[in-house]
Amino acid sequence: MSDEVKEIALELRRHLAWQESDGTRQILKTPGAPSALSAMAAAAPVAAPVAAPVARAAPVAAAPVVVPVSPPVDASRFSTLDEVRTELGDCKRCKLCSGGRKQIVFGVGNPKAELVFVGEGPGEEEDKQGVPFVGASGQLLTKMIEAMKFSRDTVYICNVVKCRPPGNRNPEPDEIQSCEPFLKAQLAVIKPKVIVALGKFAAQTLLRVDTPITRLRGQWRSYEGIELMPTYHPAYLLRQPDEKKKAWMDLQEVMRKFGKL
Ligand code: SF4
Repeated sequence: MSDEVKEIALELRRHLAWQESDGTRQILKTPGAPSALSAMAAAAPVAAPVAAPVARAAPVAAAPVVVPVSPPVDASRFSTLDEVRTELGDCKRCKLCSGGRKQIVFGVGNPKAELVFVGEGPGEEEDKQGVPFVGASGQLLTKMIEAMKFSRDTVYICNVVKCRPPGNRNPEPDEIQSCEPFLKAQLAVIKPKVIVALGKFAAQTLLRVDTPITRLRGQWRSYEGIELMPTYHPAYLLRQPDEKKKAWMDLQEVMRKFGKL
């Protein structure tokens, strides 16, 4: 309401109050004369129509890669590896599902193994076959296992991430975070006596540390009450054969635990 209209309304109220105090109970409108209301309306400035703001089209941004968020997985609620695998399903919980994986590489071996080897993630050959550690580093791991007087059938082998990172790159933190509950579930079901963590990603993920593998290796650690021995990844040993001696020392510690040395 403009100041002018407010002033007229105030004046009208004062006038009516004065007439009321003077005994007037009814006001008759003179034919043809404008009512107080219409006078106010006539005095009120005509508001110019306000044009509705024109909505501007937002700039089109590149669509982000949307990875569906899944409810957390309770690792303790599974009683068999098959149940864990069923829960994993055709997993799309991280971006490795769209990174060119052929299949999920879950794990292989004895579901009641006393000794579990945990690696990093599947490589090209593992992705093709759906079995962990079957490429060149897998052949070396098989030799290591046999040198420890075990066999691939008596141990269990799996990885931190179950899908091949594109170009065999390192798994990224968000990928590890998405996949780790299934590794935990596997370990919770198997309940091994000893875990051998192969390389930095397995050791750091299971131990929740960022200590370099060079400092972790060879030292007994504990993962949820299970003894854990960090050592070098076979792929690293293929690149640095001089380090095999240290890895062998670590594996001998494991053999000692099983009375095999
Ligand atoms: S890496 Fe693990 S979490 Fe990611 S898509 Fe594969 S199975 Fe799912």
